[in-house]
Amino acid sequence: MSGLSIAAHFSFARVKVISQSVHRECQVPGAIIQLAPDRRFRPLCHLCGGPASVHSQGLRRIVRDLDVAGAQVYLDVQYRRVNCPACNRAVVEKLSFAGTSMRLTYRLARYVYELCKVMTVQDVAAHLELDPKTVKTIDKHLLEEEFADTDCEGLKVLAVDEISLCRGQRGYMSVVLDYQSGRVVWMGQGRKAESLDAFFATMSQQQKGAIEAVAMDMWEAYVRSVRQNCPQAKIVFDLFHVVKAYGEVIDEVRRQEYRKASFQQRAYIKGSRYLLLSNRENLDAQKRARLEELLEVNERLSAVYILKDQLKAIYRYSRRRWAQRALEQWCALAAQVEHPAMRRFIGRLQYFREGILNHCEYPIGTSKLEGVNNRIKVIKRKAYGFHDSRYFTLKVKQAFPGVKPTTETG
Ligand SMILES: [Zn+2]
Repeated sequence: MSGLSIAAHFSFARVKVISQSVHRECQVPGAIIQLAPDRRFRPLCHLCGGPASVHSQGLRRIVRDLDVAGAQVYLDVQYRRVNCPACNRAVVEKLSFAGTSMRLTYRLARYVYELCKVMTVQDVAAHLELDPKTVKTIDKHLLEEEFADTDCEGLKVLAVDEISLCRGQRGYMSVVLDYQSGRVVWMGQGRKAESLDAFFATMSQQQKGAIEAVAMDMWEAYVRSVRQNCPQAKIVFDLFHVVKAYGEVIDEVRRQEYRKASFQQRAYIKGSRYLLLSNRENLDAQKRARLEELLEVNERLSAVYILKDQLKAIYRYSRRRWAQRALEQWCALAAQVEHPAMRRFIGRLQYFREGILNHCEYPIGTSKLEGVNNRIKVIKRKAYGFHDSRYFTLKVKQAFPGVKPTTETG
């Protein structure tokens, strides 16, 4: 047999392979590659990367590398302490394949990072037989390198959303999305005006001045922050956020109806939350039939449900005057459902009317916002087990890199 030896896979800069051995007796087959400095090259300082001179020999470190043919591979590395003239001190030499504090090679770390894009930390850890903490540390470290900065270049239309961190806890995070590209630009703690101010603080005056519209929930704190920071921007209460807010009305009416329902009626209402809040188009035939039954037996829920469809109809108008008329009609109709939650909601619609009608100029589609919202919830379940909101933020930014809008308009 001819060709390269396995050593070819370990041709790192400034070191050479001096021996290789395979261990079969252990549970996991392993290979050890011994590396020593290649004396043809000057060592480098690990702090500044500049040339240094050898101070002393004899340091050794074991570093895990990528598996080869199912065998775990460890590099047994000899390295040196060096004198760096630039740093004016003795430090360890720079290795081209691993950091000084890492017990694994850069390329294994990169592989871990790639796996973490599609697998949970636990699954990656089990797959590679690494500690989950190590896997998470690697993933977070490389995410920081790629996504730490807030890039506010070219933003025109934003969508702001809130994400609750834990059920029952009052922790919220604010998410800023570049509506046009679908990129998550920023995430921060809280959902107060100051929370969003922290985002605007990362922008230049010019960048703030370029914001044309911001879609958001009917939420006073966000409104205040946008008015303060981008007074020229139109505030848009888009259909997604308005229907989401209306969902709370449906939920409260449903609960009240359940409490006063007869035993037979309760059977219909029980477990109907999902049916009432989902888009009818997303329900399968069986669930749709259940929904129809429920609406037949409960008049109040039926009215509230029909109002949901009519609320959506307001957003089909692209002429402001017509949309306004539809909104007024809706409020008059909804007022007939006498319920405190409904009254509050009507009050909000009237108070935030201008922003609702702004959809005529900025028709911000629901599907994109809904898609982002749902996917963030999935990431939260997977990543937030660590109770590390920074890690969660970075994972979200990674999941929504955005696509550059094409030059075509349509
Ligand atoms: Zn140096």
